[in-house]
Amino acid sequence: MTSYKELGLVNTKDLFKKAISGGYALPAYNFNNMEQMQAIIQACVETKSPVILQVSAGARKYANQNILKNMARGAVEYAHELGYDIPIVLHLDHGDSFEICKDCIETGFSSVMIDGSHLPYDENVALTKKVCEHAHSQKDYVTVEGELGVLAGVEDDVSAEHSHYTQPSEVIDFVNKTKVDSLAISIGTSHGRAKFKPEQCTRDANGILIPPPLRFDILEEIEKQIPGFPIVLHGSSSVPIEYVHIIEKFGGKLSDSVGIPEEQLRKAAKSAVCKINIDSDGRLAMTAMIRKVFSEKPDEFDPRKYLGPARDELKKLYSHKNKNVLGSAGQA
Ligand SMILES: [Zn+2]
Repeated sequence: MTSYKELGLVNTKDLFKKAISGGYALPAYNFNNMEQMQAIIQACVETKSPVILQVSAGARKYANQNILKNMARGAVEYAHELGYDIPIVLHLDHGDSFEICKDCIETGFSSVMIDGSHLPYDENVALTKKVCEHAHSQKDYVTVEGELGVLAGVEDDVSAEHSHYTQPSEVIDFVNKTKVDSLAISIGTSHGRAKFKPEQCTRDANGILIPPPLRFDILEEIEKQIPGFPIVLHGSSSVPIEYVHIIEKFGGKLSDSVGIPEEQLRKAAKSAVCKINIDSDGRLAMTAMIRKVFSEKPDEFDPRKYLGPARDELKKLYSHKNKNVLGSAGQA
């Protein structure tokens, strides 16, 4: 059993309080490898932003939980070495069972998500409550994120054909019964890099897909039901068209890519939304740079020569998100 405090990590409790009163959202960036982790820490140290390092069940399988745990410890030491100790959370993204949440808590996670959103309401309540009771009774309080409402799209092992917006009438009951620390809601964000079908979108003068706007009316209704309660948005990549163009220029094919416009996320971050999950944008940034190097330097075979530029681009992306989208820069 490793407590997250031994690794130098923090839970989300105080960070969310500050984010709500400060009108910004914490970045939750997914990672599975060293370059992603380095880019996240470099960007967050430079912009003085707190950060949530997020690990999906798929990432745990890919990278191994003990390696990830020690990478999180390394992230804390790396930030220190770079000259500024930012608060770092290690969070399980989309835990789908009590067991995986328990396992993660035992290996040093400071926060877990239990996603029972696909279950009937009462079963979601029961499962989330069970995870909260366990997480909250640890020597060092582990925070828990629950989810109400179903997002469309695909993310590692998580997929849903249709989205169902969160019912504002259910949130008070859910929060009271489960004692969850934060709640992921569905207001029109979506997992993956093709968040909407072209027929759900309009097109601008350049033929670029414009997605339907987020349902801020539902968000406002939820905030009225549970004032000041931390809200989380999943599936909040913007899918920058520049990256899609680079990928396609150098041999990739990503038809009908469309994300959530950054202005809408900025608006959400100023509300009770205090955690915004961004994964696909990082995948696109890395892939764009790697494809570019492969195409422009066909004789290159040193992985550092393509992973290095990918890491630099990731860092640029995360700095931009912290400063211009989430508003978390300067808050650490
Ligand atoms: Zn998600």
